[in-house]
Amino acid sequence: MSEMSAQREIDRSHMQVSDEVAIQITHMNKWYGTFHVLRDINLSVHRGERIVIAGPSGSGKSTLIRCINRLEEHQSGEIIVDGTELSSDLKNIDKIRSEVGMVFQHFNLFPHLTILENCTLAPIWVRKVPRKEAVETAMHFLEKVKIPEQANKYPGQLSGGQQQRVAIARSLCMKPRIMLFDEPTSALDPEMIKEVLDTMVELAEEGMTMLCVTHEMGFARQVANRVIFMDQGQIVEQNEPEEFFNNPQHERTKLFLSQIL
Ligand code: ADP
Ligand code: MG
Repeated sequence: MSEMSAQREIDRSHMQVSDEVAIQITHMNKWYGTFHVLRDINLSVHRGERIVIAGPSGSGKSTLIRCINRLEEHQSGEIIVDGTELSSDLKNIDKIRSEVGMVFQHFNLFPHLTILENCTLAPIWVRKVPRKEAVETAMHFLEKVKIPEQANKYPGQLSGGQQQRVAIARSLCMKPRIMLFDEPTSALDPEMIKEVLDTMVELAEEGMTMLCVTHEMGFARQVANRVIFMDQGQIVEQNEPEEFFNNPQHERTKLFLSQIL
């Protein structure tokens, strides 16, 4: 387990959580066929919150965050993102997708496009941003993730850590208000994990609302204001990081922590 990110001191004092609700999930259930994968999920996320979602493999973490940007559909209950209820109304889905960025374990960059083209494609074609402005924005975010010099290379020419930082920059180019991360560092070699976590820490410091599925408990302690523990499709327990790690309440949480820490 990597504690590397903890080496960087961060000032949490300005990492304020707003009263405004960014995501509201109430009594949400989802099935894959007859398999009840998410059970009565209730979750309120305020703007500026940084939530780490932990739990054993198969507990429904990916499915939960994929429901938040409608990559998966839920069957009952309610999910409201930025005031918009996720329903089968396609207009709403477009709005949500433009406001919620997502970064996956496998970077999912387009291999035949340059780094710059990966970052400008959606802004130009989905958002109708003029090309010049899209390029400026892309370069701004590539600088932010510290790889502007790679702009004209192809994904295959970059390391895994660099590709993941491009994936983060690409998401940011759509100016999302919420970022979802699904195990963004678990496909990376250990020496590349820190550079990706550092990028995520910076985003957190700037007040981005973030939900991160990760096993990086150092990251959770450092930036999360809440850790959510899932098991068998349910939110079993949630707490601020210190309480979560030092004083877990449920047997399943204790077992999980004993296996990963
Ligand atoms: P986690 O991310 O916590 O490992 P997932 O959300 O990926 O868990 O999966 C939760 C459960 O749902 C697992 O049992 C998995 O096998 C099952 N599952 C995931 N995706 C599908 C799918 N598309 N169809 C059927 N079952 C699925
Ligand atoms: Mg998963």
